[in-house]
Amino acid sequence: MRPSQSSVFTFLLIAGTVVASSSLGFAQATASSDAPGSPQTFKLIPSLDKELLDAAADPCVDFYQYACGNWSKLHPIPNDSPYSDQFYNLDQYNRQVLHGILDKAAVAGSVRDANTQKIGDYYAACMDEAAIQQKGLAALQPELDRINALSSKGQLPESLAHFQMINVNAFLGFGSQQDFKDATREIAAVSQAGLGLPEKDYYLRTGAKDEEIRKQYVQHIANMLKLLGSSEAQAATEAQAVMKLETSLAKVSLDITSQRDPHNIYHLMPNGGLQSLTPGFNWEHFYPATGSPAFSEINVAEPEFFKGMNQVIADTDLATIKSYLRWQLVTSLPGTVLPKALDEERFDFGGRKLAGVPEQEPRWKRCVASTDGAIGEALGKAYVEQQFPASSKATTLQMIHDIEAAVNQDIESLDWMSAETKKRAEEKLHLIANKIGYPNKWRDYSKLNIERGDALGNALRATEFESHRQLDKIGKPVDRDEWGMTPPTVNAYYNDSMNDINFPAGVLQPAFFDAAAPTGLNYGHIGLFMGHEITHGFDDEGRQFDGHGNLTDWWTKEDADKFTEKAACIVNEYSQFSVGDTKINGKLTLGENTADNGGMRLAYMAFLARAAQQGLDLDKKTADGYTPIQEVFVGFAQNWCAVWRPELERLVATTDPHSPDRFRANGVLVNMPEFAKAFSCKKGQPMVAAKACRVW
Ligand SMILES: [Zn+2]
Repeated sequence: MRPSQSSVFTFLLIAGTVVASSSLGFAQATASSDAPGSPQTFKLIPSLDKELLDAAADPCVDFYQYACGNWSKLHPIPNDSPYSDQFYNLDQYNRQVLHGILDKAAVAGSVRDANTQKIGDYYAACMDEAAIQQKGLAALQPELDRINALSSKGQLPESLAHFQMINVNAFLGFGSQQDFKDATREIAAVSQAGLGLPEKDYYLRTGAKDEEIRKQYVQHIANMLKLLGSSEAQAATEAQAVMKLETSLAKVSLDITSQRDPHNIYHLMPNGGLQSLTPGFNWEHFYPATGSPAFSEINVAEPEFFKGMNQVIADTDLATIKSYLRWQLVTSLPGTVLPKALDEERFDFGGRKLAGVPEQEPRWKRCVASTDGAIGEALGKAYVEQQFPASSKATTLQMIHDIEAAVNQDIESLDWMSAETKKRAEEKLHLIANKIGYPNKWRDYSKLNIERGDALGNALRATEFESHRQLDKIGKPVDRDEWGMTPPTVNAYYNDSMNDINFPAGVLQPAFFDAAAPTGLNYGHIGLFMGHEITHGFDDEGRQFDGHGNLTDWWTKEDADKFTEKAACIVNEYSQFSVGDTKINGKLTLGENTADNGGMRLAYMAFLARAAQQGLDLDKKTADGYTPIQEVFVGFAQNWCAVWRPELERLVATTDPHSPDRFRANGVLVNMPEFAKAFSCKKGQPMVAAKACRVW
């Protein structure tokens, strides 16, 4: 149900998003129980954590090592996680807070308002392992029967439409999106989908490790189908056939780097245009079965994919398509609503084998995450009331205004940009909407029925409710108040079509933001994130949209060429970095690297302006032993303190648009003479680039 909007949403980080949304369920990874033993408690980390510093490291040789050298010792990767970093630590802390809220909300018989009943009963149903186990596959039977009843490929459109609504993205994704070229309206959209592995590359890459992952994947499909009732031999044959089908879809899918160019995923056409790409698939049977409003044109994100999909369906026998649907159905569901054997098998592949995670998360953690995923604004409202005072909103909003003032100053100072383009850039800047903490208007869940004791039903109803909400937008004006992240989320994003930056309350917490911390630390931490998101509006992708969110070219040819030349410096710089034997893809990570570099410059400039207003003495060391300017850089670098399992590193190395943490820190600082000056680094030392890159 989610059309590919990867090109318009740029997130601050991926580990959280990949992990939370992976259909392979690594973070919804599975759980034994609330077993006693070593329940780990997470605490907020201070804005400047001196314990993390590696005093033996030379800041001019490897600043990341200097700022974060003790991270892995002090915050080793827990057994139930693929990584440990600042974002993870805060996410775990927030989950503890949400756990407290949900435990209270789940007390049956108490007087509860409508939202509290929903979050409490959703959570309670999820925690009720015994009921889930007792129902077994019976709860899933109506969906399986629907697949069994398919007697011809002609019935496929109606069937896929039904599955779309419960988030089974077999073959394709269908939904609504903001029109790239007319940001005031919502249109229908279809996009490529249907792969069980994270991206097309996983099906096609050569090399022993990739072969092994594919072998394990086929075995995983077979195991799941067996648990759904196929015999051992039958399941093995079916799994091979499903893999062949998915590989054919992968071959006709658009790769992730090409998806970053919005022109590559925008092909608005009359409904008949899509129909002629797929003569074997009757869309007039598909649309009404989703319950979508009528429409006459649709964005076909990847036309070549749909031509290919038509062929794949034609070339595949019905029995294989039915196996594929069974597999897609079961892998789309959160592990928490499945009987134990299926849940355990999901974790074994998605958690243990793919991400190298030895143990399942305790059930409460997974149920907190799935409640947030299903009815996040109901839960988020309670979270905000408890964790996000009005004063935090006021202070962080003021910081954003400081950063925006810095952007203005920065644009003015650019020697490579013409006055004409500068004027347009400033117009865009002034139109950015700042969304802080939580939505102005909370989502209405009153029509969604949540029942205690019905975990699977709750999950399906919540998904269907959200799918309808998305589809109902088609043909309507855009709701600019909407948020794409729930309030407790530890992440942030910029949306090209909305031209807005979004900072959920969950990320506006220590270490990233602390009202009591010195100014320099807050600007190095959350100030950087703010600068980062704003810069996305001006990176290689964002710069193609104007201030109203329309895909339109507002650059003079000469300025656009100069931008590309400046950006090439960043592509080259980051292409030199590698993780293990995998080189960073400088083109895929260009947008994020541009945002990191621009964001840090903006945070630094905004800090100077704020410090001047506060009358801070920039030469005087604070109680930390650092000057305020040094604090900006140490705070910045400590954002990225992290340790990942090699399996996760490898898993996302070629698909993550963000660079690995060490380079997110050092890759930026080497380009800043201001950093070199603050730590007395000399030309020729590793932390000073021979040729510094600067776009913004
Ligand atoms: Zn970003």
